[in-house]
Amino acid sequence: MRVTFWGVRGSVATPGPETSAIGGNTSCVQVTCSDGTEIVLDCGTGVRALGNLHVASRPPGAVSILVTHHHFDHVEGLRFYAPIFLSDFALDLYPLPAPLGKKQSSPLDQFNGTTFPMKTDALVSKINQKIERREKFRIGPATISRLPLNHPGGASGIRIAEGGRSVCYMTDDELNPPNGHITTPKEIASFVRETDLLIHDAQYVPSDYPAKRGWGHSLVEEVLELAIAARCQRLALFHHDPSRTDEQVFAIERDARARMRDRGFPGDVFAAREGVSVKL
Ligand SMILES: [Zn+2]
Ligand SMILES: [Zn+2]
Repeated sequence: MRVTFWGVRGSVATPGPETSAIGGNTSCVQVTCSDGTEIVLDCGTGVRALGNLHVASRPPGAVSILVTHHHFDHVEGLRFYAPIFLSDFALDLYPLPAPLGKKQSSPLDQFNGTTFPMKTDALVSKINQKIERREKFRIGPATISRLPLNHPGGASGIRIAEGGRSVCYMTDDELNPPNGHITTPKEIASFVRETDLLIHDAQYVPSDYPAKRGWGHSLVEEVLELAIAARCQRLALFHHDPSRTDEQVFAIERDARARMRDRGFPGDVFAAREGVSVKL
């Protein structure tokens, strides 16, 4: 498997010279399986550039987009994902399933003619929307597992495993929320145990608290503890706060690496940045 970051920013896109090294696009991660199956995690603004690549390379199989939840920063790029306007393209779209009895929302709701000029009838590709309620299912050669996270309105963590390797994509998640857990850190550690790459929401540092406590994002230091407890091979800090410049994210990365060295963590720790690809 290969994992490539197309959008690593949390909350809102942050273009500009102060964020160009880390990247300003919102959440989007591409997972390419050994047989070429393409699984896209979230479709924030980062999916626009990935879409251009998909148009150029026209992968023969369907692309699957799995969405952790429907906050704008995780779905807003779908409007500019060029393949969905092509008739020979097929997309399997996995929204976050609504609780039973509640109205199902979808990333396709943006195509409404009001907040975006086009409606869904302009999407001539074959879009197969899958409301997948199972905790575990397959896409191509990969086994997908999902776990509810601690986030206002809900979000799901995703583990993708293939050929003895795995990646866990855990955003948006507040490991220690002020009003009780949906899923405890112990349960999250069990879900991500010994993964080859843990990608986790690490939006905040202590100076962001207490103002942003309860907003559904984690402190970097809590994420480091999770990676140690779960014996992950590598850790990518993800969903960088929009107020953070490149220099500030690099400082967080340096501090995280020093702390993990002191704790004897054998794996790599890095701040996720656009364009970086990790082979598992
Ligand atoms: Zn987010
Ligand atoms: Zn969110």
